[in-house]
Amino acid sequence: MGNREIFDQVSDMEKQIGELYEQLGDLKGKLSDLLEENHRLAVENHNLRHHLEDHTEAISEKTATKGSGSSKGNHPGEGYDNLARLYEEGFHICNLEFGSPRRNEDCIFCLDFFDKTK
Ligand SMILES: [Zn+2]
Repeated sequence: MGNREIFDQVSDMEKQIGELYEQLGDLKGKLSDLLEENHRLAVENHNLRHHLEDHTEAISEKTATKGSGSSKGNHPGEGYDNLARLYEEGFHICNLEFGSPRRNEDCIFCLDFFDKTK
């Protein structure tokens, strides 16, 4: 192997090392992006989990208070009360004109609803 060939090989290696070094830099940049993203997702995941737990607690609390309610038997319940109040406030609760004002007239269809539920 002549001196010239050795010199060429060393030059090639230098070039390759330079390219590898560049690639290494790129990868390092990507890795730091990924670590940042990973951290961001971990925080987001933590927050969402927290949020979900709060919601689940709120719901189970609601269910618990509903379950331990004093009223036994088949009381028509909240939905019925809301509709009755709506009717008293002067709105239709019947299928035909639900939500529109009654104009102080009794509506037989609305009253029919009361008859059915009583
Ligand atoms: Zn009506």
